[in-house]
Amino acid sequence: MTNTIEFFKNAMHVAADIATETIWPTRCAICDAPGMLICEHCLKKLSYIDTYLACPICGAPYGKTQCTECTPLMLASANRESVPFNNMAYAMVADNAVKRIVKTYKDKGERRLAYTIANIASRYISPDWKNDCVITYIPDTIKARQRRGFDHAQELACTLANVAKLDCVGVFMPPKSIDQRNLSRKERFANMSSAIKLAPASPTFRKIIVFDDICTTGSTLYAAADCLRRAGYKEIYALAFGRVLD
Ligand SMILES: [Zn+2]
Ligand SMILES: [Zn+2]
Repeated sequence: MTNTIEFFKNAMHVAADIATETIWPTRCAICDAPGMLICEHCLKKLSYIDTYLACPICGAPYGKTQCTECTPLMLASANRESVPFNNMAYAMVADNAVKRIVKTYKDKGERRLAYTIANIASRYISPDWKNDCVITYIPDTIKARQRRGFDHAQELACTLANVAKLDCVGVFMPPKSIDQRNLSRKERFANMSSAIKLAPASPTFRKIIVFDDICTTGSTLYAAADCLRRAGYKEIYALAFGRVLD
């Protein structure tokens, strides 16, 4: 009897999936071809960053021998002398394809892409980071969460933690909405440092990875690192799915 009920339950799920696929067929987030969340053709063309060639400090692609992103001049324009993370890594250059994946996930309702993003990003967690480490995120602003109906940063970080077999913890307050347009690089960094705050009574862990979908200037991640350092975290890492290059 139980087997019969299970059979009908599964049959109902299959029928529901077929109906959903007929009405709203799965389409490639990049080229719109029907069939898969990212089609094989687009998957092969994604701009994966080769960690062997990336800057070992700031994760910039091709920065291994001479990084142009974490030079004293670039750091000075962000009001600092060194990168505030023990290490940073990015999975991909945030070109149009990567931006489309993230936008389709967070603003167009294709939540299944969280697993695609997490699966790709998880390959960039260095084995050195993993031991006794937790993953965190910078929450969406309250406005963005209300608009989307979910916190995309939390969902991505928790999916990543699940894939990487680590714990996901929320330690930051949702930041205030800040309009960073029309600001200089220095102003953006100064602005973000006042916007990112730890949640009251948030616990302290020894090692933590801050995960972000797309890193544009690094101002949000840097502000998060400063907060964690002040709270006594010793090993702080940053990982982002995409890195915008100027
Ligand atoms: Zn495609
Ligand atoms: Zn660098």
